[in-house]
Amino acid sequence: MHFFSLLAISLICFTPKCVSSFKEDIEQCTLSDKNSKTSKCQDKQELANEQHEKQKYLNPKWQPYLDAISQAEQKYISCSGPDDGIASADCTACHDDVIKQDLAPFLTAGGISPEMMKAAAETNRITKYQIIDQKLYRSENCMFPFRCKGIEHFLKELLPELPDTEFYLNTRDWPMTSRYFVKEPVPVFSFSKTSEYWDIMYPAWTFWEGGPALEIYPTGLGRWDNFVQTLTTEANKYPWSSKLSKGFFRGSRTSAERDSLVLLSREEPSILDAEYTKNQAWKSDKDTLGAKPAKEVTLEEHCRYKYLFNYRGVAASFRFKHLFLCGSLVLHVGDEWQEFFYPAIKPWYHYIPLPTSASQAQIREILQFARENDHDVNKIAERGFNFILNHLKFIDITCYWRKLLIEYTNLLKYKVTRDYTLFQI
Ligand code: UDP
Repeated sequence: MHFFSLLAISLICFTPKCVSSFKEDIEQCTLSDKNSKTSKCQDKQELANEQHEKQKYLNPKWQPYLDAISQAEQKYISCSGPDDGIASADCTACHDDVIKQDLAPFLTAGGISPEMMKAAAETNRITKYQIIDQKLYRSENCMFPFRCKGIEHFLKELLPELPDTEFYLNTRDWPMTSRYFVKEPVPVFSFSKTSEYWDIMYPAWTFWEGGPALEIYPTGLGRWDNFVQTLTTEANKYPWSSKLSKGFFRGSRTSAERDSLVLLSREEPSILDAEYTKNQAWKSDKDTLGAKPAKEVTLEEHCRYKYLFNYRGVAASFRFKHLFLCGSLVLHVGDEWQEFFYPAIKPWYHYIPLPTSASQAQIREILQFARENDHDVNKIAERGFNFILNHLKFIDITCYWRKLLIEYTNLLKYKVTRDYTLFQI
């Protein structure tokens, strides 16, 4: 009987009255049949479980969230064929639109002119790169040498495939060319931005090296390929049903937007464990919101929890991609700050979004929703996991660089000639 009759009854029995009569039925069944469970009783038990699941749909409080999930499911168009869960040996096309979007202002302007490049060159502490005859050149000083090394890892790999080109690259955390202050687009490459900037996004150095140095990661967060291995191993070690039904966050106070989360955790530690750690700018407990800095927790250890929070820091935070690979539900707060792969990951489909200044009450409510709708949020977590695993592979980073530099170079309105102030890498 199982599937179709359960389906039929669950479709018919959808009112509170009907649900309660089923409950009575089940009670009778289990009373009269304590020792030997007949298949009829098992069916009824299953039905009761099913109805118990359905009852939550009757809680009007969760309806808007459930609607948001089903709308996201209906609206979702796979960027990689019928199933995003299938990894391809080739690189993904899922991030291609971002290249189009970032380069669109330059296309509209008729291409990238020498004047635009001059404006880019005037950006404070910018790094100039050239590729000439499949060799890579760079201005002597890079503001953050390890970040440059992290970027050059990908560029050097691609040299045989790239045309002669040149570009100005920003290694700071924040973007450089505001659409409000600069009316003409300026071609500066940055790892993260909001829609208020002209900057062209590139894959951050930290995919290879040069990420923030912590006690637990003394050489700096990097090697995404290794994290893919270790985090998926941890995800296997902590499958959904074994994870703690609690929110979790560890990180420094790079943005005060994180305060509500930390304050809620102090008030209700049973539902949420969120604490501030030290970073290099830490001077006193004021920088950890009046508490002693918490011990750092590895990203792998995050996988023990069901609900993982992501916030922007100075710009986008590197942790976003890691959190998905735990197989946990990602709660992403604020949608302004982007990295190149963010637009392909969809709210309510791959993660649950929260508004930028989510209050303690909003966070408490979404955690309650997650706990009471375990099956629905588990599905979101699975989709997020599959998407990052299959569309943010190491090869996808390399491919993004390749496509970006080819498309960008096609827009240059002049022939690139060797700049002898640069040195070969
Ligand atoms: N991080 C970590 N464990 C900690 C604290 C931080 O793994 O206990 C990681 C975090 O996931 C992020 C990076 O270190 O990728 C920097 O975190 P922080 O909160 O200091 O700055 P953010 O870049 O998020 O603004």
